[in-house]
Amino acid sequence: MPTIFRPKKKISECKKHGRNKAIHDLYNTRLWREIRAAKLMEQPLCERCLQKNTISPAVEVHHIVPISTAGDDDLARKDLAYDYANLQSLCEACHHELHNRMRADGRAPQGAPTFPRP
Ligand SMILES: [Zn+2]
Ligand SMILES: [Zn+2]
Repeated sequence: MPTIFRPKKKISECKKHGRNKAIHDLYNTRLWREIRAAKLMEQPLCERCLQKNTISPAVEVHHIVPISTAGDDDLARKDLAYDYANLQSLCEACHHELHNRMRADGRAPQGAPTFPRP
């Protein structure tokens, strides 16, 4: 019986959010690696596929509110990047699709995070 937990490649970062150096630095921390690992451990299946009653192993952790919406605000960027509630486990296909759609919708609003703050 085949197991669904058999990653063919290394789990990748959610780099699609921006090639911005500041955002890249947020991913390049131990804190992010720990948060990402915790998220994938808690939700090892693609959340989007689950909504469609499909089981796919998640390989990427996506930010529901893109970090780029925080603009140049360092603290707001960190808030979004490391906010557990802002994370979503996704398979590669869903992640790709989601980001394609975000691009199609136009640019993310600047400096106006829509995610409710605690
Ligand atoms: Zn999926
Ligand atoms: Zn993403």
